[in-house]
Order: sequence, then C-alpha cells, then structure tokens
Amino acid sequence: MHEFSIATQVLEAAREAAADHGKDTFEGISVSVGEASHVNPDQLETCLDAAADSTVGKDELDIEIETEPAYAECDCGWSGEPETIDRALAYAPNLTCPECDERLELQAGNECRLMSVTIPEADDGDDGNAADSPDANAID
Ligand SMILES: [Zn+2]
Repeated sequence: MHEFSIATQVLEAAREAAADHGKDTFEGISVSVGEASHVNPDQLETCLDAAADSTVGKDELDIEIETEPAYAECDCGWSGEPETIDRALAYAPNLTCPECDERLELQAGNECRLMSVTIPEADDGDDGNAADSPDANAID
C-alpha cells in the first residue's frame, strides 16, 4: 500500500531527527500531506499508527496531519490552486491550465513532509521540545 510505505519513511525520518538530538525515540510527529500527493490523510494516519508499533516500538504516537493545498504555475502566467478532480479518493488535481489548456507544473502540495518531531522530555526537567526539521524531509 502506498500510504504504508510513506508512513514507514516518515517514521524513519522522525527516528533520525530524534537521533540528532541524542534520543532513541520520539513521542509525536507532525506531517504535512499535499492535496496533490495522492495520499489519503486518513489512510496515512492509520498506517502511521500501525507502522509506529512495528518500526519504532511506539503504540502511543501523537500524530498530527495537516493538508497542504496544491499550487501550480503555468507559462502563460496563471497561478493558483488547481481544480481537484476527486478529493475523496486521491486528491487528484486537474493539471490542465484553466487559461490556456497547457499542462500545469505543481509547485507545492505534491508531496508528504515530516514537519516536526516531538522528542521526549529531557531527564533534567526541560520541557519536551519539538524539533523542527529545517529542510523538512521531502518524502515521495
Ligand atoms: Zn496557462
């Protein structure tokens, strides 16, 4: 399943982010799902939940999923959010320019990204802090 392999990659990236902070685990993740990424956010959440148990041994992972609108630009000068053909199924965008009928290039909204990882509180009593991954790992 597409969502499951993405979930595995997201969790792997989260584990690496935690490792960068000297932790071998994490408590939560925030993921951005592009509306044109052909990923169903509900399915992704289900897969993340299932994969968290098998890949990082977490059965209680805080999962936050945001959707990112698609954005496209055309050589003719048109830019905006492409029309969505079927939002319910796969967020399939209509990649035909409404102005000139040429094929649009997506500039955003066509990938899943790990936005932040919540790392457990430090032993010295610091608040657990969310580590923003600056170059948010693009997946897919
Ligand atoms: Zn155009």
